[in-house]
Amino acid sequence: MSESTPVERVVIIGAGFGGLTCARELVKKGGFSVTVIDRHPYQLFAPLLYQVATGGLPEDDIAYPVRAAIPGVDFRRGDVVHVNPDSKTVRLADGHVVEFDRLVLAMGSTGTTYGIPGVDEHALQMKDIKQARAIKNSLLQKYEDVEIGLAPKESLRVVVVGGGPTGVEVTGAVAELQRSMKREFPKISKHASVTLVEAAPRLLMPFSEKSSARAKSDLEALGATVKLEAAVDRMYSSDVHLKSGEVLPAGTIVWAAGVAAPPEWAVLGLTDRANRLIVSPTLELTKNVWALGDLAHVDGGEGRPLPMVASVAMQQGRYLADAFERSRKGEAIKPFKYKDKGQMATIGRRRAVVEMPNGWRLSGTVAWLSWLGLHVFYLAGGRNRVSVVADWFWNYVAWGIGPRRTVID
Ligand SMILES: Cc1cc2nc3c(=O)[nH]c(=O)nc-3n(C[C@H](O)[C@H](O)[C@H](O)COP(=O)(O)OP(=O)(O)OC[C@H]3O[C@@H](n4cnc5c(N)ncnc54)[C@H](O)[C@@H]3O)c2cc1C
Repeated sequence: MSESTPVERVVIIGAGFGGLTCARELVKKGGFSVTVIDRHPYQLFAPLLYQVATGGLPEDDIAYPVRAAIPGVDFRRGDVVHVNPDSKTVRLADGHVVEFDRLVLAMGSTGTTYGIPGVDEHALQMKDIKQARAIKNSLLQKYEDVEIGLAPKESLRVVVVGGGPTGVEVTGAVAELQRSMKREFPKISKHASVTLVEAAPRLLMPFSEKSSARAKSDLEALGATVKLEAAVDRMYSSDVHLKSGEVLPAGTIVWAAGVAAPPEWAVLGLTDRANRLIVSPTLELTKNVWALGDLAHVDGGEGRPLPMVASVAMQQGRYLADAFERSRKGEAIKPFKYKDKGQMATIGRRRAVVEMPNGWRLSGTVAWLSWLGLHVFYLAGGRNRVSVVADWFWNYVAWGIGPRRTVID
């Protein structure tokens, strides 16, 4: 880059998997002034949220300070409330205005309830640390309350709605938590149960039928009940009503059934049914504005968008940094191409399913060890990695004899 080339101001909204990858790559390339804006000062490792929600890991282990993660980047903590592509500005909730030459929208996704009555009021979702903490508080507090007669024994029943990877993972972890509680609450723990409810005919729909069947049998071996083709009709504070008329009493209801892009950004362009912004094959939304990750709808073939997973967001972050550099040099930009790295879901101790793009399938201990290794690899920060491995080791050897993470807010 010559001395007279102006430095482009790239503003990235969202310090998640996609936004941070893009920022890091731009800094490496040099010649860009990069600002990242996020409402939280940490990057959340969402794939391990369910372990925080079930007392397996402390919150700090899955959150990494953004400022430390991206040296060379100007980080601004704030909530973006308005984007104006014409004036090339974004406005934060505190009134601050940030100007850009190029804008990357990387605000991720949010939970959606499909308008089912009672979900907003009575179910707990698991998209951020606060929500994971609320689930842990509810699970643990119910034991305390039932023990002293403050709540009925049915409060120890847990219903998880949604048989995707998140629902399967949280169900397995709740089943294991309930087993380990037997020692601490011997009089009441026989009343505890966890039921996973899924509207489709099988769990883990994007996986093969074999992996779906394995996930179901693994969950049942842990003591969970799995209800398939069971659509939720409505829910109340202490029960879930299925369309079939069946009523499932529950002290804690976890909603893991729906993910959509935040609806407020639909004003910026065309969206699909999940509010995802439909972008061009080079991820461009409109002039000077690009979108990536969960927020962006990119055709994944057969009329389906690419999945909302971390590897899509990270590959798109890397791709955009590369595309910006190419465009600055006046070089041609090829469309984004996703390299499928396979999929995995863990079900409990030594239980997981892994599927590779070449058709290889793993389950059981080998799959579980691969899952552990990959998650530690992608976790940000040496301290977090050491701490997570130490916690997992302890949880493994001390399983059933505790103690777990026990703080209840
Ligand atoms: C419980 C759970 C488990 C998951 N498990 C897996 C898994 O095992 N494997 C996998 O590949 N994927 C998993 N995912 C999905 C994965 O986390 C997402 O696909 C990925 O995080 C998307 O990356 P992103 O960069 O698009 O958004 P995110 O990583 O979600 O980052 C978005 C960022 O934008 C910020 N933000 C949003 N709105 C604003 C605003 N208005 N102003 C300022 N900041 C804002 C948020 O604070 C956040 O930091 C899981 C998700 C969840 C919730």
